[in-house]
Amino acid sequence: MLQHKISKRHYKNALPIGFSLIIALMVLTSIIAAIQLNKSSDEISHVEIEHRERDSLLQTMAQVARKRTITLFEIVHAADPFQIDDAYMRLNQLATDFTVTRQAFKRKKLPPNMLELFNKQTKLAQLTEPKQLQVYELARDNKKTKALDLFIKETLPLSKKFLEAIKDMSQLESSNTHIIFKDTKKNNDKTLSYLIVFDIFSVLISVLLTIFIIKKQRDSDQELALLATTDTLTTLPNRSTFIATVEDHIAENPNKPFSIIFFDIDYFKSINDNYGHEVGDKVLQDFTTKIRFNIKKEDFFARLGGDEFVLVLNSIQNHHDINQFIKKLSENLDTVFTINKTEVFTTTSMGICKYPDDGTDTETLLRHADIAMYSAKKSGRNGYKFFSKETNIKVQKEHDMSHALHSLLHSDNAGNELRLVYQPLMNISDGDFTECEALLRWTNSQGENIPTDEFIEIAEKTNLIEKINLFVIHEACKQQFEWQRSGKKSTRININLSGNKAIFSKLLYEFKINLKVFELEPSLFGIELTERTLFEISEETISELETLRELGVKISMDDFGTGYSSLSYLKKLPITTLKVDKAFISGIPNDKDDLVLVKTIINMAKSLKLEIVAEGVETHEQLIFLEAHACNIAQGYYFHHPLESDEISSLQLAA
Ligand code: C2E
Ligand code: MG
Ligand code: MG
Repeated sequence: MLQHKISKRHYKNALPIGFSLIIALMVLTSIIAAIQLNKSSDEISHVEIEHRERDSLLQTMAQVARKRTITLFEIVHAADPFQIDDAYMRLNQLATDFTVTRQAFKRKKLPPNMLELFNKQTKLAQLTEPKQLQVYELARDNKKTKALDLFIKETLPLSKKFLEAIKDMSQLESSNTHIIFKDTKKNNDKTLSYLIVFDIFSVLISVLLTIFIIKKQRDSDQELALLATTDTLTTLPNRSTFIATVEDHIAENPNKPFSIIFFDIDYFKSINDNYGHEVGDKVLQDFTTKIRFNIKKEDFFARLGGDEFVLVLNSIQNHHDINQFIKKLSENLDTVFTINKTEVFTTTSMGICKYPDDGTDTETLLRHADIAMYSAKKSGRNGYKFFSKETNIKVQKEHDMSHALHSLLHSDNAGNELRLVYQPLMNISDGDFTECEALLRWTNSQGENIPTDEFIEIAEKTNLIEKINLFVIHEACKQQFEWQRSGKKSTRININLSGNKAIFSKLLYEFKINLKVFELEPSLFGIELTERTLFEISEETISELETLRELGVKISMDDFGTGYSSLSYLKKLPITTLKVDKAFISGIPNDKDDLVLVKTIINMAKSLKLEIVAEGVETHEQLIFLEAHACNIAQGYYFHHPLESDEISSLQLAA
C-alpha cells in the first residue's frame, strides 16, 4: 500500500532543556545541602567549645575545693600563728577563686538537670564554709586537737561530698554534651535524607518535564508535518506528498506498472462564481468522499490544488479493467449535489496515463495525465481520455500559449503585442460602410501571429477573458475618441465580448465608465455576443443590456445558427441584430441546405424585426444571393479583410 510519508524530526531541543533542568535542580539542592551542613558543623563546634569551657570550669572548681581542704589541713597542723595566718589568706584567696569560677559556670546556659546539681552543690558549699571557718578559729586559738577532730569528723566528709557533687556535675556535663551531639547528628542525618529525597524528586520532576516537552514537541511537529503534507479542506495528501510518495514508490518497485488518473471538475470556476466558495468547498469534499468510496487500500488519492485531483491506481492494471473502473466511477461522479438547498450539477473530466509506458518519473506522468485530461475537456468535457503521443504535442502548444497569454495580460505591455483591427460592415446597396467590427490580434514577442479564435478559446477557459475584454473595450473607445477628435465620418465600432455570468456586470460597468471618460455617445458602439455567451448571462445583465440598447448601443447575436437558442429565448433577449455565421454563407450558392437555412434565418430576422448581417462574404455570388433576399449588410473578405487602424482611417477619409 502506498502511504504518504511524514518526515521524522529529531527532538534535539527537548533533551538539552531537560538536562539543564536536572543540572539546575541538582546545583540548587547541593547549595542548600552545603548551607545546611555548614550550619550544623558550626553548631557542633559551638557545642564542643561550650562543653570544653564548662568542663574546664568544673575541673577548676574541683581543684580549688581540693586545695581548700589541703590548706585547711595545713592550718590544723601549723606550728606558729604566722603559718596559720598565711594559710588562712590562701584559704580566702581560694574561696574567692572558687566563687569566681562558680559564677562563670552559672553564667553558662545550664540545662535544668545541671541547674539542679548546681543548686545542690551550692547548698553543700553553704554547709562546708562555716565548718571550715570553725576549724580555722579553733586552730588559731591553738585548740589543735578540737580543730583536728572537727576537721576529720565534719569538714572532711563535707568536702568529700562537695567534690562528689562536682564530679556528678562533670559526668552530667559529658552526658548532656553527648546528647546534644547525638541530636545534632540526628538532625544532620534528617537534613541529608530530606536532601536526598528532594534530589530524587527533582530528578523525577525533570525527567517527567523532559518527557512532557518531548511529547509536546513531537505532537506539534506531527501537526506541522500534517499541515505540510495534507490538504486541510479534504484531508487528502497534497501535491508535494503525492510527488514524494510516487517517487518513492517508483524507486522501490521500478518494475511494477500502475496508472495515474488526473481529475478536473468541469466548470468548477462557474460553481464558485455562481454559488459561492462555500458551495464550491462542499463540492470538493463530496467529490473526495465519492472517490474514496470507490478505491481500494493499495490505491493512492491526492488533491493537487483547486479542483484538480489525482489517483494512483495500483489495484487495477489492464486497459480493459481501467476502462470499466472509470465508467463506473463516472456514473457516480455525474451527480446533482444538493448543498444548502442549492442543486449543483457537476461532471468531471479525466486523463489517464500509465507507468512505465507513458513516463518513468512523477513529473512526466503527472504532465501526461494532465494533457490527457485537457484533451478530454476539449472533446466536450464529462469524459476521459488515455494519454497518447499525438495529443501531447497539440496540448503542449496550448499550454505554452496560455502561459504566455497569462504573463502578457499580467504585465504592463499587453499593448505591445495585442491590437485591434477593424473589418467594415458593408451596406450592400451603396457599397459604403457606417460601422465596423473590432477584432483582436496577437503578435507575440517572436513576431508570430497567434490565431484569434485559438487564444480567445484558451482565454475563455482560463478566465483571462475578463482582462482581454477590458483591454478591447478600452482600445475601441480610444480609437473612437481618435476618430471623433480628427473629425472623421462617424463609424460605429462593434466589439466582441465573451465570458461568463460572473464577469458581465463588471464589463458593462467598465464600458459605461470608458464612454464617460472619453465623452463618447453609446450609439457609436455595438456589442457582439455569441449564443453561448447570451445563454450564460444573468437576468440582471439582460436588463443592463436592455438599457444600453435603449441608449443606442447595437446588440448583435454573433455566429447565429451555430448555437442552440430557441425562438422564444431569442425574443426575450434585447438584441437588435443577427449575424449569420460564415459557415452558412460559405455554402452559398452550392449547398442546398445552407441556401434554405440562410433564407429561413433572414425571414425569421425580418419577422422578429431584427437587422441581419451576413458574415464571411467572399464571393460575388454570395453577395447577389444576399441582395436578392433583402439582406442589406455584409461583412467579409469580398469587401475588406480586417484592417489596421490607420488603413480604416484612410478609408473613412476617402468616404
Ligand atoms: P467573429 O466575431 O465571428 O469574427 C469574425 C471572424 O471571421 C473573424 O475572425 C474575421 O477575421 C473572420 N472573417 C471575416 N471575414 C471573413 C471571410 O470573408 N472569410 C472568412 N473565412 N473569415 C472571415 P477572427 O478575427 O479570427 O476572430 C475569430 C473569433 O474570435 C471571432 O469571431 C470572435 O468570436 C472572436 N474574437 C475576435 N476578436 C475578439 C475580441 O476582441 N473579443 C472577444 N471576446 N472575442 C473576439
Ligand atoms: Mg464578432
Ligand atoms: Mg461571427
